Amino acid sequence: MSDAFLRHISAKLADIEAAGLTKRERLLTGPQGGRIRVASQNGSREALNLCANNYLGLADHPEVIAAARHAMEEFGFGMASVRFICGAQTLHRELELAIAKHLGKDDAIAFAACFDANGGVFEPLMDENDAIISDSLNHASIIDGVRLSKARRFRFANSDMNELEDRLKEADGAGARFKLIATDGVFSMDGYVAKLKEICALADRYGAMVLVDDCHATGHLGEKGRGTPALTGAGDRVDIVTGTFGKTLGGGMGGFVAAAQPIVDLLRQRARPYLFSNSLAPPIAAGALKALEIAIEADDRRALLKTHAERFRAGIEKAGFGVLPGVTPIIPVMLGEARLAQDLAKALDERGVYVAGFFFPVVPKGAARIRTQMSAALTAGDIDFAVTAFADAGRVLGIV
Ligand SMILES: *Cc1c(COP(=O)(O)O)cnc(C)c1O
Repeated sequence: MSDAFLRHISAKLADIEAAGLTKRERLLTGPQGGRIRVASQNGSREALNLCANNYLGLADHPEVIAAARHAMEEFGFGMASVRFICGAQTLHRELELAIAKHLGKDDAIAFAACFDANGGVFEPLMDENDAIISDSLNHASIIDGVRLSKARRFRFANSDMNELEDRLKEADGAGARFKLIATDGVFSMDGYVAKLKEICALADRYGAMVLVDDCHATGHLGEKGRGTPALTGAGDRVDIVTGTFGKTLGGGMGGFVAAAQPIVDLLRQRARPYLFSNSLAPPIAAGALKALEIAIEADDRRALLKTHAERFRAGIEKAGFGVLPGVTPIIPVMLGEARLAQDLAKALDERGVYVAGFFFPVVPKGAARIRTQMSAALTAGDIDFAVTAFADAGRVLGIV
C-alpha cells in the first residue's frame, strides 16, 4: 500500500474531523424498535428511538419475523444468482405483484435496494433525445441515476413550480422527445411533501411523465399507505413509483420500480443494477411481503403515527424549539450550526433519547438539525418523555 496515498486519505479524514463533520456510528445490541438497546462500555443501555424509518413499527413484528423464518426453511438462505441466469423464486414474483397491485400499477421489478432502483431506472428509459427534469432536493440515488442516463438534465429549485415550468419550456425548446419529471414524494431532510398535484398538472400541460420516489411514504402515508400520490390526490397520474422495502415495509432491504408493463419489462432487460446483482434473499422478500400485507390493513398504526407526530410537534414548539412545518412523521428540529446539532444529540443521548444530528453535506451549511422521526412503535408516554428530554437538554445548552 502506498504511504503517500494513505497520508492523502488521512488528511481528508482530518479535514472532515476539523470541520466537525465526522459521522460516528453507534451500535445496537438488539432489534430495531421504539425502545432499543445501545451498546455501551458496560454492556448496553435502553434508549427511546427517534431516528429510524420504522414508521409503522414493523421492523420487529412477530409475523414478519415468522414469515422470514418460514421462507428460509422453504426457499433456503440465498439465491446465489442474478435473475436472468437462475431465474427468481415464486416468492420474488409474489412480492413484485403485491407491491404493484398496492400502488395500482401493472407490474413492479424488485432491486437489492431503492438506491439501485433509482440508479437503474433512468438509463434504459431515457436517452439523449429525452429530458429529465429533477427537483434540486432529490435523493442522492436519483441524482446518480439521472447522471447515468444520456438524457438532457434540467433541475428546478425544491418544489418551485415556476422553475419547473421554465425547465419544461426549456426542454421543449431543446427539442426533447420525451420529458420525465423526477421527484421525491417526501423530501426526507425537511419532511416536506412534493406538490404532486401541481407537478402533474404541469406534466399534463407540457406532455411530460412523472416519476415519484416514495421511500418515505409507501406504507404509512395516504389511504391504505399508498403513498404521496394517494395523499396529494395525484393518484394514477404519477407514471412511475420507486420505493423501498427498507423503511416502513419491514425495514429489511430491497427496492422496486412500479409502472406500466412495458416499462417494467424493459427494465428487466436493461436496468444494470437488476441485471448484474443478486436477487433478494428469500427471508428478506418474504418478510417484506408480510410487512406489506400488514401495512395495508394497518389504519390503526397509521392513525397512531399521525397522533404522535402532532403531539411531538406541539410539545417541541411549546418547549421553544424551531421546527419545520409539515404533515409527515419527519419533524426536523432546526439548530443552525453542525456543532450545536451534535451537542444536542449527545445531550439527548445522555437522557435516553436516540437521535442523530444532520449537517453538511447532508443538509445545507447553516441548516444543521436533529431530524426526528415518529413511529407507531412508540407510545404517547414515549413522546412526552422525548419532549421533556429535548426541553431539558435545550435549556442546559442555552438553545431554548
Ligand atoms: C432511503 C431512500 C432511498 C434508498 O433506499 P434503500 O432501499 O435504502 O436503498 C432512496 N430514495 C429515498 C428518497 C430514500 O429516502
